[in-house]
Amino acid sequence: MQYVNSLLDLIGNTPLVRLGRTLDLEDGPLVLAKVEYLNPGGSVKDRIASRMIEAAEASGALQPGGTIVEPTSGNTGVGLAMVAQQKGYKCVFVCPDKVSEDKRNVLKAYGAEVVVCPTAVAPEHPDSYYNVSDRLSQQPGAWKPDQYSNPHNPRSHYETTGPEIWEQTDGKITHFVTGMGTGGTISGVGRFLKEQAALAGTEVQVIGADPAGSVYSGGTGRPYLVEGVGEDFWPETYDKTVADRVIEVSDADSFSFTRRLAREEAMLVGGSAGMAAFAARQLAHELAAEGRTDAVIVVLLPDSGRGYLTKVFNDDWLGQYGFATGAEADHRTVGEV
Ligand code: PMP
Repeated sequence: MQYVNSLLDLIGNTPLVRLGRTLDLEDGPLVLAKVEYLNPGGSVKDRIASRMIEAAEASGALQPGGTIVEPTSGNTGVGLAMVAQQKGYKCVFVCPDKVSEDKRNVLKAYGAEVVVCPTAVAPEHPDSYYNVSDRLSQQPGAWKPDQYSNPHNPRSHYETTGPEIWEQTDGKITHFVTGMGTGGTISGVGRFLKEQAALAGTEVQVIGADPAGSVYSGGTGRPYLVEGVGEDFWPETYDKTVADRVIEVSDADSFSFTRRLAREEAMLVGGSAGMAAFAARQLAHELAAEGRTDAVIVVLLPDSGRGYLTKVFNDDWLGQYGFATGAEADHRTVGEV
């Protein structure tokens, strides 16, 4: 019989899949996507959730029957809720009221409690997002992972994602491309790959992809629509020494490339994956122009497009912001059929 005891045993060891048509290159470097939406909770964040919880158990910060409190509504919440449920912890997530009902329902489906705070109050108001999450995390038995400062976030990537990529490429990787939110992925994977390359006498370039407007690419926090990446502050989990370069990508390019990945590579991924893959494609073109067709680029795709069906994959939503869908010709009205 072949089975695992818990879904938690399936976190990590995601495959590398070669990108093809969307690169628009006849003879270029090998571009491989690390498909993180194949994690059991549907994103790369399963890795940090399990590592942060294990470390808190080991240090005693999280006691049996304790409660995990985190201000998140996204992928980290799903990862934490999944691991917490399997290990018998309670989970409370605090989120602003602008977070969609679908996202809240995903967390509740895993058994987590969701506390919704009004956006229209000042940060010092007792009901504000900040005050509510502070109060909850100060209660007895509560533990706050804080993915923006927890060293086990980048460490999980140093210990799992990085080694997987090194082994899967047989040490032949030359470039690693990823988006940056907390910076945990780029810091952990980037450091591991650079250390291994140095030992092997080779070199790996680490490239961050960033939404135009975010601080990582020199912006001031100007708003952008792609979710999960870019910041308006420098998180503690971001190691400023790791990235060799940051490629800035517009929302328009991120979204149109996200749609292309679904239509041409059968990869239904989120906008941050489209953004990172667009940067990888640009890099592949640059390397091809330099004759470096032997390069091996790995790009990390953090999550699935299922969470964005009403946004990136909704033509009306894209159209509302003036973005092209690239798929207009395929839609017929009932009268045309
Ligand atoms: N994409 C998505 C969809 C995410 O949720 C995150 C995490 N915020 C990232 C990319 C960036 O990953 P990291 O936090 O490790 O920089």
